[in-house]
Amino acid sequence: MNRILIVSNRLPVMIERRKGSFFYRQSTGGVATGLSSLYKNRESIWTGWPGIASNRLSSEDKAEITEHLENELNCHPVFLSQRDISLYYEGFSNKTVWPLFHYFPQYVVYDRQYWRAYQNVNERFAEKVLDIMREGDLVWIHDYQLMLVPRIIRQAKPEASIGYFHHIPFPSYELFRTLPQRRELLEGLAGADLIGFHTYDYARHFLSSLHRILGYENNLGQFTEADRPVRVDTFPMGIDYDRFANAFHDPNVQKEIKNIKKRVHDYEVILSVDRLDYTKGVPQRLEAYRELLKTHPEFREKIILIMVAVPSRTRVEHYQRLKDQVDEMIGMINGEYGTIGWSPVWYLYRSLPFATLSALYNLADVCLVTPVRDGMNLVAKEYVAAKQDGGMLVLSEMTGASRELGEAIIVNPNNHEEVTDALVQALKMNEHEIIQRNQVMKSRLRRYTVDRWGREFIERLEDMKDRHLEMLTKGLAETSRQTLLLNYRRAAARLILLDYDGTLVPLQHTPEKAKPGENLLRLIRRLATVPGNEVVVISGRDRTILENWFGDLPVGLAAEHGAWIRDGEWMMMEPLSGAWKEEIYSIIERYVDRTPGSFIEEKEFSLAWHYRKTGSELGAIRVRELIDDLIYLTANFNLQILEGDKVVEIKDSGVNKGRVAMHWITKRAWDFILAAGDDRTDEDMFAVVDDRGYTLKVGFGETEARYNLKSQKEVARLLEDLVGGKGGND
Ligand code: UDP
Repeated sequence: MNRILIVSNRLPVMIERRKGSFFYRQSTGGVATGLSSLYKNRESIWTGWPGIASNRLSSEDKAEITEHLENELNCHPVFLSQRDISLYYEGFSNKTVWPLFHYFPQYVVYDRQYWRAYQNVNERFAEKVLDIMREGDLVWIHDYQLMLVPRIIRQAKPEASIGYFHHIPFPSYELFRTLPQRRELLEGLAGADLIGFHTYDYARHFLSSLHRILGYENNLGQFTEADRPVRVDTFPMGIDYDRFANAFHDPNVQKEIKNIKKRVHDYEVILSVDRLDYTKGVPQRLEAYRELLKTHPEFREKIILIMVAVPSRTRVEHYQRLKDQVDEMIGMINGEYGTIGWSPVWYLYRSLPFATLSALYNLADVCLVTPVRDGMNLVAKEYVAAKQDGGMLVLSEMTGASRELGEAIIVNPNNHEEVTDALVQALKMNEHEIIQRNQVMKSRLRRYTVDRWGREFIERLEDMKDRHLEMLTKGLAETSRQTLLLNYRRAAARLILLDYDGTLVPLQHTPEKAKPGENLLRLIRRLATVPGNEVVVISGRDRTILENWFGDLPVGLAAEHGAWIRDGEWMMMEPLSGAWKEEIYSIIERYVDRTPGSFIEEKEFSLAWHYRKTGSELGAIRVRELIDDLIYLTANFNLQILEGDKVVEIKDSGVNKGRVAMHWITKRAWDFILAAGDDRTDEDMFAVVDDRGYTLKVGFGETEARYNLKSQKEVARLLEDLVGGKGGND
């Protein structure tokens, strides 16, 4: 079994120093719980900060802590100084990334020092992991404090298996683009093999930023980074369902329930539980509650709001201000509506132990969870799981959890009236309906637990590892490469069929830019002049361009996917007519007008609509519309529509690269055939060559070809080896 190396900002341990000795307590946060069942089956090692500033520790202290953590708890500490904590953690992580990713751009602080510290600490985390790492390990990095770690590890260990999970929202491109370090963060994440988000929306936002900022296209959530497939997927984090569902039967929880019951009398209880963070919408929530008391006097002295606010990031200014604001609002509501013996808000500014929290979940008639933005929100899930009888959840649509808890009353937290109405609806809802709604949510939470979340992520990561290996084995391994070279040398008559764009040169935004360089021309000339070799460049381009570029070389040419060939002289493969072009041209022209960045390329016997420079979403929509439009017309003309990479080509249905390949293959008996191509139009050629020779696809998509080559560079390297020297496009 592979080991799992977990990497997160904090280790799941609390260390306390009492009277010169250290005491260790394991903490059971969501992630730690989720991974505990994985622990049982295989070795896991955790890397992270142990929670004490290193400048308060002597080197003996550090050695003692390290030894205990490593030997007893399988944890490897990364020590951070007070300065690291304030610049990397409180600074870049919590004053730059956190507010921006939660849609609070007005709170974002840009500071070069923060960024430098963030880079530095990320490097130290990566170094620690690299120290521990062994072959076969799966590395799982957690959250926004460590976005650069995947790439750093990848650079040091290209074959590593790396997963990253993002626990907070990923904002829309329009917001993300404002970040000065947007490229670096995306590149950092793209070092992983698998990138997980809580919801589909966050994944979509990430992919859109990746495309617009780094230019990476994705296919159903998979993109390619430096020839390596990277998968983006959603894994909504669940909870330890049984722990919350069974808490009611725990004697400690029962004791707490009894205690609290004595104090709340017959009041209906509305519960609110969060860390005191500006993303949680606490002031808005209080405003809605105040509105309820104002507009519905019948609830006065009948209900109470128990507000648990867990102190958080108390050294950051916005958090201090929020605390003042909340204190003030609660004071105001209690002053305004309270009576002798009844306070509308009971305020607990502290973290509660599990038993008390579970008791509150069980007692509450309504749980009010209204963050203005929240990656997931576990409190909502815990409430539904813990509640034994009726109890209604009012949930903000801005939480990741709302995607799974649709039977709750879903509200826009910024709309006070809507939240007030939701509270009334929840307080008045009949028990039967509440139980029915909760049953559906409970069964969903019971199925997709935190344990399953962890397992699924790791399974998918292993899957990516297999896929990567598969691709590498389909890649031209050294032994097959040597056999290929040997067969080439032994052969007397050799045919080499080469596609041009995407195979000999990288794809460019406009077709004119892909002109062959001196080195490439020299390489092809050398290959073509080896006695016994026949080289053919087969392209979708028109014959004027091919003649221009390759006219002087002793090679065969095929233009417009084989409408024209030059085998000695230029000739048509079969009589063709371009009479249809005018009509089709006018249709495509309408699409050019409506799709900025796209254009028509007219060839003698075909038309091509290029949309490489168009935004991928618009391009994807328009290309479907265009094909729909064209399908009716092309049937009358005996035409075919060919979809290439960001291009649609319309041409005579008898013309394809397979026929060209056949023309040359049947010319004589060959001892060696090699065909290389990169897109769908080359598949016809691969099918014809089949096992008569070597078929090579550039890139890692689905293919009929026998081998995959990573890039145009690899093609050039192979051709160089055939002729035994240097070459390639400059
Ligand atoms: N929690 C706790 N004691 C408290 C209040 C909350 O242990 O007094 C726990 C709660 O059970 C939940 C977590 O803190 O698991 C809060 O997670 P959530 O996703 O709701 O918010 P976050 O703090 O991660 O933004």
